[in-house]
Amino acid sequence: MIVDDILAKARAENRTILTEIEAKQILNEAGIHCTDTRLAVDKARAATLSEEIGYPVVLKISSVDITHKSDAGGVKVNLKDRAEVENAFDEIMASCKAAYPEAKIEGVAVQGMAEVGTEIIMGMIKDPSFGPVVMFGLGGVLVEVLKDVAFRIVPIEKMDAEEMIQEIQGKKLLEGYRGQDPADIAFLEDMLIKLSDFVDRTPEIEEIDMNPVFAYRKGAAVVDARIILSAG
Ligand code: ADP
Ligand code: MG
Repeated sequence: MIVDDILAKARAENRTILTEIEAKQILNEAGIHCTDTRLAVDKARAATLSEEIGYPVVLKISSVDITHKSDAGGVKVNLKDRAEVENAFDEIMASCKAAYPEAKIEGVAVQGMAEVGTEIIMGMIKDPSFGPVVMFGLGGVLVEVLKDVAFRIVPIEKMDAEEMIQEIQGKKLLEGYRGQDPADIAFLEDMLIKLSDFVDRTPEIEEIDMNPVFAYRKGAAVVDARIILSAG
């Protein structure tokens, strides 16, 4: 229901890019846990939402025209009180408007500051010959530099999810490295299967990018998500 409404709204507005808030709503519907993320259209609302969610919070620019939010100065993390939130709101607006003068800005997304975990990425892309494939990898610098990612054609089964995680070169990081908590592998496998099931029944989606996902000793949370719809 929610998924259909969001897709219909995007189509009506003639866009193929969803906002982070929309992407997270869709993923939550698919059973993939994302940080609770809400839209504030002005500074006062950002402060109220921050109080409701509880400090510390994160503010991010919400605009379908700005997909790489931190590059535009559109992300402020670890905001601890109302003054910091108000200040961050002004700074985000100023730098995003300077970087993207033409961008249509709907406001800021407000979300709780997630506890740091092992950074991973998950997503889906459509291969011209194989169709949708799900992706799993280590996040941050590792994925950018080493391209340490595993792919499988949708739909996947539990064994495929297990293999994907096992074939990552940096797998040791998921097993608890130098005092870092191990990641909840079973939970991550379940996320991959849910992702695969969801994209299998939602052909209108062209691409999903969850980056980063924080993996914990118990569970995991998606802190940033992008979804692109297929054109036409
Ligand atoms: P971008 O559009 O630049 O990818 P992100 O939403 O990924 O923006 O935010 C940039 C970085 O800020 C993330 O990689 C993560 O380290 C941190 N971050 C974002 N959201 C949260 C959150 N809710 N809790 C903690 N850290 C966060
Ligand atoms: Mg990101």
